[in-house]
Amino acid sequence: MSTSLDDMYREIIMDHFRSPRGKTPLEKTDASSEGMNPSCGDEIQVDFSADKDILTDVHVNCKGCAISVASGSMLAETVKGKSFDQVLRIAEIVKKMLKGEEVEIPDDPEFEDLSALQGVRQFPVRIKCALLAWVTLVEGVKKYKEGGADTAGAATTEDGV
Ligand code: ZN
Repeated sequence: MSTSLDDMYREIIMDHFRSPRGKTPLEKTDASSEGMNPSCGDEIQVDFSADKDILTDVHVNCKGCAISVASGSMLAETVKGKSFDQVLRIAEIVKKMLKGEEVEIPDDPEFEDLSALQGVRQFPVRIKCALLAWVTLVEGVKKYKEGGADTAGAATTEDGV
């Protein structure tokens, strides 16, 4: 891997770390999940609002290292407005990418920033930092699909389902 590629990855990650997306709290939260990465001390909360099968908005609150924050920010940027099936598919691609498994990264502009996370693979201890946001979101999506109840005690009643 060339140095310039590393620099590019670092630039993208630092940009997301400095100005994380998805910081605005939601007006309505349909599911909420929390995640922790004890090996680094990263903590994250991911909330989202939904309209049936679409994730309409997402709020990410991450307290952790640059990589965990950047990954959460990329997540916020990527999943908004997607169907849950798409969200789970993207999460799966990111996971495989981070673990170094063979995966085809879609030729999609939204994967441009995400692919910067590949740079993390060189630092195995950091892989969990990058995974945290995605694992946490997937938990939330599962909970939402199972009935919409959330663990944060701020359950919203879904109407018209
Ligand atoms: Zn970390």
